[in-house]
Amino acid sequence: MNSNTQNDIPFPEPRRSDPAVLAADIVERLTYRIGKDAKAAKPHDWLTATILVIRDRIIDRWMASTRKTYESGGKRVYYLSLEFLIGRLMRDAVSNLGLMEEVRDALASLGVDLDIVAALEPDAALGNGGLGRLAACFMESMATTDIPAYGYGIRYVHGLFRQQIADGWQVELPETWLAHGNPWEFERRESAYEVGFGGTVESALAPDGDARYVWKPAERVIAVAYDTPIVGWRGNRVNTLRLWTAQPIDPILLDAFNAGDHIGALRESNKAESLARVLYPADATPAGQELRLRQEFFFSSASLQDILRRHMQQYNTLENLPDKVAIQLNDTHPAVSVAELMRLLCDVHGLDFNDAWELTRRTISYTNHTLLPEALETWPVPLFERLLPRHMQIIYGINAKILLSARKEKGFNDAQIRAISLIDESGDRRLRMGNLAFIGSHSINGVSALHTELMKETVFADLHKLYPDRINNKTNGITPRRWLMQCNPGLTRLLRDTIGDDFLDNTEALQALDAYADDSEFQKQFAAVKRANKVRLAQVIQSRLGLKLDPSAMFDIQIKRIHEYKRQLLNIVEAVALYDQMRSHPEMDWVPRIKIFAGKAAPSYHNAKLIIKLANDVARVVNSDPAVRGLLKVVFVPNYNVSLAEILVPAADLSEQISTAGMEASGTGNMKFGLNGAITIGTLDGANVEMRDWVGEENIKIFGMTADEVTKVRAEGHNPRAIIENSRELAQALHAIASGVFSPDDPGRFTSLVDGLYQHDWFMVAADFDAYAAAQREVDAIWTDEKSWHAKAIRNTARMGWFSSDRTIRQYAKEIWRAG
Ligand SMILES: *Cc1c(COP(=O)(O)O)cnc(C)c1O
Repeated sequence: MNSNTQNDIPFPEPRRSDPAVLAADIVERLTYRIGKDAKAAKPHDWLTATILVIRDRIIDRWMASTRKTYESGGKRVYYLSLEFLIGRLMRDAVSNLGLMEEVRDALASLGVDLDIVAALEPDAALGNGGLGRLAACFMESMATTDIPAYGYGIRYVHGLFRQQIADGWQVELPETWLAHGNPWEFERRESAYEVGFGGTVESALAPDGDARYVWKPAERVIAVAYDTPIVGWRGNRVNTLRLWTAQPIDPILLDAFNAGDHIGALRESNKAESLARVLYPADATPAGQELRLRQEFFFSSASLQDILRRHMQQYNTLENLPDKVAIQLNDTHPAVSVAELMRLLCDVHGLDFNDAWELTRRTISYTNHTLLPEALETWPVPLFERLLPRHMQIIYGINAKILLSARKEKGFNDAQIRAISLIDESGDRRLRMGNLAFIGSHSINGVSALHTELMKETVFADLHKLYPDRINNKTNGITPRRWLMQCNPGLTRLLRDTIGDDFLDNTEALQALDAYADDSEFQKQFAAVKRANKVRLAQVIQSRLGLKLDPSAMFDIQIKRIHEYKRQLLNIVEAVALYDQMRSHPEMDWVPRIKIFAGKAAPSYHNAKLIIKLANDVARVVNSDPAVRGLLKVVFVPNYNVSLAEILVPAADLSEQISTAGMEASGTGNMKFGLNGAITIGTLDGANVEMRDWVGEENIKIFGMTADEVTKVRAEGHNPRAIIENSRELAQALHAIASGVFSPDDPGRFTSLVDGLYQHDWFMVAADFDAYAAAQREVDAIWTDEKSWHAKAIRNTARMGWFSSDRTIRQYAKEIWRAG
């Protein structure tokens, strides 16, 4: 759009999308783009050809969206996230374009099955868990709600590792989602920026006589953009996910190469490319790795340069930056953006410090995702200073300004000053990225009502006193397109037949289903859909694990990253206790249960990996014991990812959301299950609290300590040994685990895990055990009363519509971004 002549070039005619045209286009792509004869084409070739044809339909709308934003002068939203856990895109795109039947028919006319081809698409697993999945749901919801938005992240060559289970242990294998190329993306050679590291800062006099600082980096790499279009529901808007890859300035050092140093000649190249090579596994001890800080700066800097270039090209002034640009930091990973935006404004665009600060703060906002002090990123000052010397100066400048005003205007004392400072001076000096993100933002949001309140009381208590208007809540959500319509077509069909199509555009219209909750005819249909989803899951498990599951048993599912605070251990210990009870009391009428687990542990997280082994060891013993045949099974499904979640979630009867209260910021898995008609057993943690309010406390099974109680018990000292000795079931189960009943080959394998419960029980597994076990027996009682179970399950689907990420995004747009 540089000149009028270019503006006058008309759009090409939008592509037609009836099955015959689609089929002809697919064959055309297969032949001329992939170079394959239809007779020789492999399923992967069909997948690529189909994606290319769908992509064309998207491009028409993508360009229209981009033009619309430019012409309206609307505010653009930039979502900076080190993680995007996207999963597969094809079904999402086809469904949002409303072309599912057309594409299915087109492929069928060529003798190709859409479902088989779609299942070949690799999961884009550029994230660890909830935080990355939230970013992906938000991208889809921003397009759906017609907000001009760009996602910015890193195009990791290797996403989250692939998990194999070998002899019950987790084994990590590299993920290679790009092995067959990625037909969705466009490489944008023209959108390339230099990003520097290290070096020195020089000062010079600007023409106006002010001091100007010039950073002379010692190393430089090139950030190159790859764009993926993200289609909103009904194809109304298409936004861009822009992921950066790193390339060397000098791809090959020719002098070295010619001198015979063939490896050394590629040194620069390898070093640059390592930046975008791997996604860091979360929940390891805070990645102390320098590479992690380099990744954070690399993608922040490239994104900000791109944002300012786009803004200047359209407006040629920075004065209106906060009116036209909103930058959302997804957690502290992009927090260095605060300093980088300041540097670009001051050193490159010549603004003075105070004006730049005003613009920065009004443009940036920050979402906090965790209260765990050890999970809030900090960097050793010497490392940061060596890598980003100019940014260190700027941060000292910001700190001086803020601390001075806190002392003078708010009368902060020394302890408060220490708490809000950007530098933690308590040990070796560290830079606090949480405080930097907070101070550099006009809005700081938590992700559930409880989490937001706890944020005000704990990690940001003193900053909240300094800036009482900045903290606000935006409870997370999930996109109902992926997490209802695509993953549960059977339920979607039944809902459309029953309450009409309103809920497709407004998830809260599901409320109309409430009227059918006690209708026995509808209950039968609802139950039939659930059963079909359970049969589908049973088939997957049988083919992957050779294990036969009875779909009439209760499917009790806990799937999420493996972490002590999420308390998979509590669930496993309860399974062991139940197993014991079933064997001791064969005369009782036990409800048949299948406990299903899936999730990855961070590779360096020892206890989490031991918990995976325990689940598998317990599964082996329980599943081969004829005494509980038909009553209890334990299953660990390997390699949890978005696509597996899409099969597991619709098949759940019971959803396990049992984190230690106060530790799960929101959770989104809980929402997926509720929407798909599972009943939740859970603690009053994260968004469970709001789910209880929405679905009604009679339709959710809440148990255990509250966040306040956990805090109190931890402060006053907790005696888990006494609790264990008072609970016969718990003591027996722990004894069985610790004495090697499930690990006869290595009886001491789990002693350390059990000792942890006796000694400190930090995550309140022992403390909550009896309440949890009792709640499970109440769940059994509801299950036995079939009508009551179905009514509750239906009311969950009916009342979960508020947890759509469309609602979350509308709140961000209205209250934080003032956009859309
Ligand atoms: C939704 C989702 C998560 C988050 O689950 P929680 O139960 O909220 O921790 C993690 N991983 C995947 C693949 C998901 O789809």
